[in-house]
Amino acid sequence: MKSHFINGRFTSGHAQSEITVHNPATEEVLDSVPLGAAEDVDDAVKAAAAAFDEWKRTPAVARAEMLHEVSRKMREHAEEIARLLTLEEGKPLPENEEETQWTYSTFDYYAELGRHSRGRVIPSPEAGQLSLVLKEPYGVAACIVPWNYPLLLMAWKVAPALAAGNTVVIKPSEMTPLTTLRLCEIAFDGMPPGVVNVVIGDGATGAALAAHPDVPVVAFTGSLSTGQKIASVAAPMMKKTHFELGGKDAFVVAEDADPELAAKAVAYAALINAGQVCTSTERVYVPKQMAGAFADAIVDHVRSLNLGDGLDPQTDVGPMIDPKYREKVVSHVEDAVRRGARILTGGKIPSRRGAFYEPTILVGVNHSMKIMTEETFGPAIPLMTYGDFEEAIRLANDSIYGLGACLYTSDAKKARLFFEEVKAGTIWINDPLTDNYAGPFAG
Ligand code: NAD
Repeated sequence: MKSHFINGRFTSGHAQSEITVHNPATEEVLDSVPLGAAEDVDDAVKAAAAAFDEWKRTPAVARAEMLHEVSRKMREHAEEIARLLTLEEGKPLPENEEETQWTYSTFDYYAELGRHSRGRVIPSPEAGQLSLVLKEPYGVAACIVPWNYPLLLMAWKVAPALAAGNTVVIKPSEMTPLTTLRLCEIAFDGMPPGVVNVVIGDGATGAALAAHPDVPVVAFTGSLSTGQKIASVAAPMMKKTHFELGGKDAFVVAEDADPELAAKAVAYAALINAGQVCTSTERVYVPKQMAGAFADAIVDHVRSLNLGDGLDPQTDVGPMIDPKYREKVVSHVEDAVRRGARILTGGKIPSRRGAFYEPTILVGVNHSMKIMTEETFGPAIPLMTYGDFEEAIRLANDSIYGLGACLYTSDAKKARLFFEEVKAGTIWINDPLTDNYAGPFAG
């Protein structure tokens, strides 16, 4: 059984029970971890609080060196880490090689950013004064992470927090704790004790961490409903919060787009990580006159993709994380069909072990259906037709979500209109789901 990592040491802590971690492609048990109790959270927060003063006073250059060292050690073990990610999360290995690379690059990026600026000098109201605006670390940052990008989303919280002089307590998802624990053995072990702590557990463990009175800042990525729970605890305590929540991203294909090329782009944006990306394409809008050509192109392409174990080099689309998450996809597809949608391909659970669901394309959908309004978070691609581009923009904006949106076009005017009119945090034109550390990532 693996353990928590508190104050630079592994400890099984106060756990009364354990969590088993499964390979989603085979349903085999990979390992077990303790189910962290409130006492474990308290121990980790105490260790992080005790380490804070010294870490805060450590010169930014020295902090940067240690963060670069985390990156260097990850690089040394990149192959092993990517493989372990595939075992516990399911994405095809090449996607996890990318996640591993993004993760160590994130540590390098924030290592340098932390050296860059401490604040600014502002003009003083009177002669003989010097007025400074100083950026100060908060103290202990809680970093609560989901399962779909277990390392990258951890790094997006931990690396900036550490670079700015905070200490951290990480709570990985109960479904994917193993890669974070492996990093404690090979990379975080070189940090001063207490600066990085990892408590394993479920929602109750995360709730205890978010509510801890000695945690002034909570960084969370996960579902909207969990974000709402954390916000309701954090608000009365006046904690600083940083949320990255769910989405229902639209992909608009403009009438000038090449249907074959756009079909591949849509399939990529909808099926990467089996559709389990917060910015996955979840609804597609295609011009009426292109509907047939586009549907044929995307069906042909999707049928050519191999569904399988992420360790198999032939695999294009891996399993979902867990059969319980697949139930939501099944219910969204059933709801759509009940209301008049038609399945062009997929729509079934394959007869094999693992949390697989066939990549599914639906037509005849509309905004009365869950598949067009609620986060599906799986390999389903609903295609809806539109008349003119203004209607496409109106449909893209007809959502309670606003995380991201994609457009395929060769018309600069349409691209500009899309940027200006679509209410989404990140907009991709002709290049879906690319990342840039230097920019924000949020709705
Ligand atoms: P989740 O909200 O169920 O869990 C996320 C984390 O929060 C886990 O570590 C979980 O144990 C913990 N948690 C659960 N209840 C808690 C509580 N009451 N208090 C504190 N912590 C609690 O989400 P998930 O199923 O792991 O991840 C999928 C969701 O994450 C999707 O909705 C997806 O859109 C979202 N997501 C968003 C982004 C983004 O950047 N916006 C990125 C990836 C995933």
